[in-house]
Amino acid sequence: MQHRKRLRAACLSLAVACAIAAAASPCTVYADEASDLANQLQQAEQNKQQAEQELAQAKENAQKEQAVSQELKNDEAALRSQINSIVSQISQTEQQIAEKQNEIAAKQSEIDQKMLEIDQKQAEIDQRWANFKERLAAMQVMHSGGTIALLGTATDISSFLTYSDNLQEISKYDRQVLDEMAAEKAQLEELKAQLEIQKTELETAKTALESQKLNMESQKSQLDVTKAALSQQIQQQDAKVDAAVADEQAAKAEYEAAYAIWKQAQEEFDRLANSNPGASVVGDGTVMWPLPGYTRLSSYFGEDRELWPGIWSNGHGGVDIPAPAGTPIHVFKSGTVYSSYYSASYGNVVMVDHGNGLVSIYAHMTARMASVGSVVNVGDIIGTVGSTGQSTGNHLHFETRLNGTRVNPLNYISPS
Ligand SMILES: [Zn+2]
Repeated sequence: MQHRKRLRAACLSLAVACAIAAAASPCTVYADEASDLANQLQQAEQNKQQAEQELAQAKENAQKEQAVSQELKNDEAALRSQINSIVSQISQTEQQIAEKQNEIAAKQSEIDQKMLEIDQKQAEIDQRWANFKERLAAMQVMHSGGTIALLGTATDISSFLTYSDNLQEISKYDRQVLDEMAAEKAQLEELKAQLEIQKTELETAKTALESQKLNMESQKSQLDVTKAALSQQIQQQDAKVDAAVADEQAAKAEYEAAYAIWKQAQEEFDRLANSNPGASVVGDGTVMWPLPGYTRLSSYFGEDRELWPGIWSNGHGGVDIPAPAGTPIHVFKSGTVYSSYYSASYGNVVMVDHGNGLVSIYAHMTARMASVGSVVNVGDIIGTVGSTGQSTGNHLHFETRLNGTRVNPLNYISPS
């Protein structure tokens, strides 16, 4: 925002300067063209920077959305493995329930068997009892009377046996057999009762397993609900990711378009800057050193220099004069300012046309104090020393071009 404001102010002051210059001495067509190109270049550079920022933001946003999506997918995977674990527990429990069911069935068949045996035993006892009664009846017929008459009131073996204690007539053998049979039946009933207890225990265990299974199934259905919600969230997030990626692609296309426009503007500008301006001669031919008092050169014309570790310049295009930031820079010879702009390599740069194909260039300045089209006299301040563009410290890059070719500035002026 600040940058845009500054640009507008610069354009305005440029227009005013050009109007003033036009009143004093005519703004040449060439200067107007240079001014237009400089404006175009500045605008293109600004657009390019903005597109670059938007691209970076779109890229960051896409990465952020993708990270959220990945996190949700991790959660979903964790949930899926939890559900799988519960499903396998349920199936194990179902197996246990089936085992218990089999044990219960086996126990029931044992009980049924015991009931059958009890019934058989009862039948044997009944048969034996009937035979015994028959024999006693026969005995009654033989002896008539006595305790045998009581037999008609005895309804079962135990009540009869009570009586039978006093019955001398009853055979000890029969009594013993009946006693044994009663004991065997009682034992069978005891075994059956034990089996019933075991069956009840098995049924209790089975019921516990069934309730455990129900509990796990309810847990699983809760997890299923959570997973369904998460899947929906993932779908929504994936749509967001797609949108963010599409935005990024659009921002990239915009950046590429802005870059192409900027590159073309830069090329056009460079072409103009390197052409022979051929403006009219101004001044009397007097020259002066652009930084009075700063006579040490850190780099001479034509020198190969290591611009960046491993990257060497193919012959230095001018001379480098170190000086503190803000030191005023004087135009070395009278002429007309034909360009004033910011470039990635030169930083703030001003080019002055001295006529007869000679141009002087002042680069890496902190500030430009020259308006395109304005006439400058030798010694006029056109900017201040800085370190803008491709520069590693405060210095003035002073360059001269003759008919578009870089020439040694020391051919025209010596340090003083
Ligand atoms: Zn230089």
